[in-house]
Amino acid sequence: MSEDKNPTATFSDDLIGFAPVELPSRGAYYKDGDGILDVVHVRPILTKDEKVLASTPENKIPETILNLCVKEDFDPKKLLIGDFEYLFIKIRIMSYGSDVPISLVCSNCKTVYNAELDLRELPCSYHSDKDHPEPIPATLPITNKEVSYRLPRYGDVVKALNKSNTLKQQNIKVSFGKTSAKEESAVIPDTTSVDLLNYTILTVDKMGSTEKERFVKEEMPQGDAIYIRKQIEKNMPAPQSDVTHLCTCGTVITKKVSSNEFFRLDF
Ligand SMILES: [Zn+2]
Repeated sequence: MSEDKNPTATFSDDLIGFAPVELPSRGAYYKDGDGILDVVHVRPILTKDEKVLASTPENKIPETILNLCVKEDFDPKKLLIGDFEYLFIKIRIMSYGSDVPISLVCSNCKTVYNAELDLRELPCSYHSDKDHPEPIPATLPITNKEVSYRLPRYGDVVKALNKSNTLKQQNIKVSFGKTSAKEESAVIPDTTSVDLLNYTILTVDKMGSTEKERFVKEEMPQGDAIYIRKQIEKNMPAPQSDVTHLCTCGTVITKKVSSNEFFRLDF
């Protein structure tokens, strides 16, 4: 008779196949009340989920997928954007496999390259210690003001987008992502990224909240805003989804692959 090696796992858990995933944040950014630890368990999207997803508004699909496929009971809006993205990629790999067809276009000679991206090979930056790192202090380079900020959560994105209501939720990572400033301004309406900045900047000098909001949304020089966005990008533990390819003409093609491109396959 063999010994039961894992007596706490239930039959249905085994059947569905939850897998442990270590979050890029290692749980350091969450408070006890958030209910998010360093490791969460995810399962693939099942046929029974398709019915739920078919009746879900498109802008709520990423959040609904996490609610369905994460074993732990927490609000996905509380996840750091990087953790959210990482879980989303893991669920995609478990559901549909890790190969993603992508096409790259050379900005110089317009040659199109069709390639396969293996999502398992995406590098990821992890938070390095267990202490809660927020609020994070910074000195603005142009105005020399002392600020404190936190990293954006998925809920911040939802809130900012509900205000502007012009973009799908996934596009937001462009704002705090790895794209160039040029692409950023082409994709993200200013109001959304300014609202996000206002949510994540907690204090400016000794300003009261009304004064702080006016400074962030109206009076802050662009150089200060860009500096804080770069700090957020640098500090955000997250998967890095930049793909680069050297064109035969000598141009380096760089593309950020976003999850809405690769998540669902066409059948
Ligand atoms: Zn080229």
